[in-house]
Amino acid sequence: MIRAKKSLGQNFLIDKNILEKITNTTSIQDKIILEIGPGTGNLTSFILQKNPKKMIVIEKDNELANNLEKKFENHIKVIKEDILKIDEANLFKEKVTVFGNLPYNISTEILSKWIINLKNNFWFDCLVLMFQKEVANRIVAEYNTSDYGRLTIISNWKLNIKKICDIGREAFSPRPKIESSLLLFYPKKNFIKINDPNNLEKITRIFFNQRRKMLKKPFNQLFNGDQRVLDKLNIDLKLRPQNINLDTYYKLAYEYEKLRS
Ligand code: SAH
Repeated sequence: MIRAKKSLGQNFLIDKNILEKITNTTSIQDKIILEIGPGTGNLTSFILQKNPKKMIVIEKDNELANNLEKKFENHIKVIKEDILKIDEANLFKEKVTVFGNLPYNISTEILSKWIINLKNNFWFDCLVLMFQKEVANRIVAEYNTSDYGRLTIISNWKLNIKKICDIGREAFSPRPKIESSLLLFYPKKNFIKINDPNNLEKITRIFFNQRRKMLKKPFNQLFNGDQRVLDKLNIDLKLRPQNINLDTYYKLAYEYEKLRS
């Protein structure tokens, strides 16, 4: 019997309908699949039933990783590592499809890391990831809502995002304290060019630092009150940060880079 380690956020999925649903979000047959945080291999089994070309899993817990090697033998390749230390872009020669039911704090960190590190070529064709429900709602939020913010803007820059479903606590063992949601991400064909993604981080950080205040102060701080930028992007400084749509933020980052180059 395996005891779940709290420090590694171990809540294993046990609901077969949910496991089936996760594997139906995108096609698996003949694809290279990367599963992160496979745990006891419940999702792994469901994925393997759909005949991927190859399956690689990354698991930080050595005990679980050793068990997976025994359980699945040569049907999977087990990498015993911390996903946060992996350089994914250089790990694969072909595009991979990623599945992950990771600890919630890591899901957000890894998503930000992948977006910031993305070069011109995407190393994945889609990501199917589990998040804490509130965080998922922030990722897919519409502008003019209170969920809309930095995470929404950064996540949606290069990726299309779809919420697949909410997942209740009872689908896991042990039961987590919070509800979850499953999100599907896939690359955008066109997105506004920003040379250094850290500029997008900086702009959203400064704009959302005081989300109830008008845009005037953060705008002046970053753009020195540049009227041309305001006219070009049609921005009303009396609005609040949540009233500015996604594209306008990406264009602001673009203009910010232009002013400094
Ligand atoms: N996907 C499985 C397990 C979910 S629990 C299921 O749905 O049943 C989260 C898993 O992520 C655990 O197996 C945990 O050991 C692993 N994990 C936690 N932090 C990790 C990290 N930084 N890198 C890789 N795996 C990690």
